Amino acid sequence: MTVSEHVIVIGAGPVGLCLSLVLAQEGVQVTLIEALGEDNFLEQVPRAGTNHPATLELLDRIGLYSRLEPRGIIAPLVHYWERREHKLIAEFDHVHLKDDTPFPYVLQCERIKIVEETLKLAKAHPGIDLHLATTFTSCTQDADGVTAWTTNPAGEMESMRGAYLVSCEGARSIARAELGIEFEGFTYPDRTLSIEVAYDFRNHGYTERNYISDPDEWSNLFHWKGPPDRWRVHFPTGAEEDEETLTREEALQARLQSFMPTGKPFEIVGSNLYVVHQRVAKKFRVGRMILAGDAAHVNSPIGAMGMNSGIHDAFNLADKLVAILHGKADEAVLDKYERQRRHVALAHTQAQTIRNRRLLEEKDPAVRRKNHEELRRTAQDPKLARAFLLRTSLIESLREAEQIP
Ligand SMILES: Cc1cc2nc3c(=O)[nH]c(=O)nc-3n(C[C@H](O)[C@H](O)[C@H](O)COP(=O)(O)OP(=O)(O)OC[C@H]3O[C@@H](n4cnc5c(N)ncnc54)[C@H](O)[C@@H]3O)c2cc1C
Repeated sequence: MTVSEHVIVIGAGPVGLCLSLVLAQEGVQVTLIEALGEDNFLEQVPRAGTNHPATLELLDRIGLYSRLEPRGIIAPLVHYWERREHKLIAEFDHVHLKDDTPFPYVLQCERIKIVEETLKLAKAHPGIDLHLATTFTSCTQDADGVTAWTTNPAGEMESMRGAYLVSCEGARSIARAELGIEFEGFTYPDRTLSIEVAYDFRNHGYTERNYISDPDEWSNLFHWKGPPDRWRVHFPTGAEEDEETLTREEALQARLQSFMPTGKPFEIVGSNLYVVHQRVAKKFRVGRMILAGDAAHVNSPIGAMGMNSGIHDAFNLADKLVAILHGKADEAVLDKYERQRRHVALAHTQAQTIRNRRLLEEKDPAVRRKNHEELRRTAQDPKLARAFLLRTSLIESLREAEQIP
């Protein structure tokens, strides 16, 4: 293998794994570096899990969809609720996208299942040289390639060479910091509390995905396949509230009872508290080093766009790297990757997730009424509903990016 045909991918999250598989399936040699090892790879905190139709099309392309479908829940509906009156504002059915995609639904399948299944495919592929329990520490580049420095499982420093390096390290990308790329944007002052509970909220009219509006405590509610089947409820929390107090059993039970008074304790499966950022890297590429996924952009999870748009980055970039390495395109296509995907990160993912949160937390009663009325009208008109779903499911973002030269 020569440096000129070899890509180093840092991070075996959903983005790094998808990127590695597309490259390897197209005949490009990949070295994939992941800090987690066999012993703790599956011990990651719950995060993403809603896979939009366009993402399902891409996962199908690499042979992943058929492995994920049995582990997930097919969810054609999404609901918007008014919390105080427990009133359904609008129901959108992805069937409106039946002429736009072979997958007119989302698949509720958690990130951990996605990385578990993708890792199996990566391990089985002879084109992927996988280094688990290996931490990337720094990188340099010259005219011919890149050098990545890593610490191997024995704690020794090693270096490796490749033609390109793609940082799929997540939000705390070392490569981004080493390249001095600004991560522009802001961090919300409050944090989000996520509680996982074994309880069937469909008994109260909810569907598999619910966005619940309230001027004091908005919420999201999602269904995940078990056993046991679980539901994840998100609540905003004050910036000053102490984590230990917030996540005590009695505090979690009280929050759930105030959300859905049942009079009986909920079976709580887990909880976690996370900070939410809205940030996009000023550049997605410096020479032979490229950012993708959370390393390039992070956003609020309201709307389920982070992992989805990161996977879209992976496929966009992989196709361009394959073309370069097979001599069918020159490096200028990497600038196109940046133009296309940075546009999506700013104009779609970030803009939409900011709008989503505003919609849920709006305090002015008149504005709330107007917003809810508009949602209702949109859901009831098939043309408007399709346009809404094309936007929320990121199909529009992919189509728009395609038009960027
Ligand atoms: C509560 C929550 C819910 C979410 N829900 C959704 C959702 O429904 N849909 C959606 O699209 N998005 C969602 N997101 C966002 C989503 O989780 C992320 O956008 C997605 O995981 C990013 O994937 P990634 O591969 O870029 O990075 P990550 O998933 O962060 O993976 C990075 C990988 O790199 C490894 N790594 C890091 N540093 C190093 C290093 N120095 N050396 C070697 N390896 C390293 C890490 O161990 C990890 O395996 C949610 C996020 C949160 C917090």
